[in-house]
Amino acid sequence: MSKMKLEQYTGEEVIRRFSELVDAIVVVDKDTDRYRTVIRRGIFTELFDEEGDYNDLIQTLLIHLNTTSEKVPENYQAFLPNYGTFTDKYSRKLKLVIHEGEAAHIVQMMVYPIADEDAYMLILDELDPDEKETENQTYRKVETIEKTFLFSMYIDLVEDTTGSLNISEISEEAVQAELKYSDWRNMIVNAIGKDDQALFMERSDPEYLKKMFIPGFTSSFDCLMQNLDGVYIWVKLIFSRIETGDPADYKYVFMVQNIHEEATAMFTSLKKLGEMALTDSLTGVYNRGKIETAAKNAVKEFREGGRKAPLSMMIIDIDYFKSVNDKYGHAAGDRTLKQFARILTDCFKEETVDIGRWGGEEFVGVLYDKTRDEAAEMAERLRITVSEFTMPSGNRISCSIGVAEAGKDDSFEDVFERMDKALYAAKSEGRNKVMVG
Ligand code: GH3
Ligand code: MG
Ligand code: MG
Repeated sequence: MSKMKLEQYTGEEVIRRFSELVDAIVVVDKDTDRYRTVIRRGIFTELFDEEGDYNDLIQTLLIHLNTTSEKVPENYQAFLPNYGTFTDKYSRKLKLVIHEGEAAHIVQMMVYPIADEDAYMLILDELDPDEKETENQTYRKVETIEKTFLFSMYIDLVEDTTGSLNISEISEEAVQAELKYSDWRNMIVNAIGKDDQALFMERSDPEYLKKMFIPGFTSSFDCLMQNLDGVYIWVKLIFSRIETGDPADYKYVFMVQNIHEEATAMFTSLKKLGEMALTDSLTGVYNRGKIETAAKNAVKEFREGGRKAPLSMMIIDIDYFKSVNDKYGHAAGDRTLKQFARILTDCFKEETVDIGRWGGEEFVGVLYDKTRDEAAEMAERLRITVSEFTMPSGNRISCSIGVAEAGKDDSFEDVFERMDKALYAAKSEGRNKVMVG
């Protein structure tokens, strides 16, 4: 067959060839929100049906790109009108993953609104595999942007409208959403974490935005928001007033930035810093400030009747610790202190206790729910364990312990004085002893 001459390309011929070239043509009726597939081949036989709900189609194509079987969560439906309404011709490349784990299909989508009919024509075409490599590279770039900026739009407070805004440099979106800002705000608040909903309503309030934002001003706040999988993630909500040159304009850009990774990393560090402020850096038990607070609170609670169970305390002092330093050096002394704290923690790990380093080689334990006898038993158990343990430098150590139980009118100082005196007595009696005050 010889090559067609230009004259042979009649209107019918072009349409025939076109319908063979593209992979899918879909017609959408906006009034009924239904679609009908006119042509469907390749991946599109799997992606959508002969006929169906337009909302499902838009979700499949534009929103839920990775797992086509799943639906956009209800709270997120507020974003759909921004994606699914076309008042103008529209073209965009889509990345569709049909089976999880398999390579993405890159699809060129073109939308032609059919004037006067309230209908759209969607033309879809999968790009050839050799076109894919460059497309994939491009998409990696878009993906990064989309991962960071989950959503963005224009807001016009005078008109009370929202408009879609595409921040990627690749596709030129011309979507005109027909969603009122006031309605959008009331819908999207449901996707915001419960604790932050009031804050969102305050900061997104049109009167607030008008009053607080001079042209060019940008402000943001962080909150939890559901992502497309219905999972709450940390996001930054950014409002920025556009400098239009007309002070009567109240136009804004709104963006949702995904800050989940940074935020969770920050919370982890904050938690660590918080714990560090309460911990003795050498031994890992509570530091003086924390153990003193815990002990004072326990006695106060006990005195005020909030605590019905008994309460006891102990103070532990390593015997002749100075000689450990003198004999083995300061570093060995430090290792001994660490090891001692480990024995102490291990020994009481089944009990409800707070243990802290009071200073130097002295430790204090707050023993919840323990009478003086039970506390003395615990102390005795600790004393024996310590005396039988061989320290890192090969030496043995012992400790002396003072125990006291809180009386109902006692202040912390009263209890402390009794156990400190008991400790002094244990030392006087030759050390490696438990005494009860
Ligand atoms: P006693 O049986 O009467 O308690 O005798 P002791 O030697 O344990 O008591 P003393 O109060 O005379 O000495 C305590 C020593 O503990 C002196 C100090 O150098 C040492 N010490 C205090 N804090 C640390 C520390 O953080 N690391 C080391 N290596 N030694 C410490
Ligand atoms: Mg001491
Ligand atoms: Mg000592």
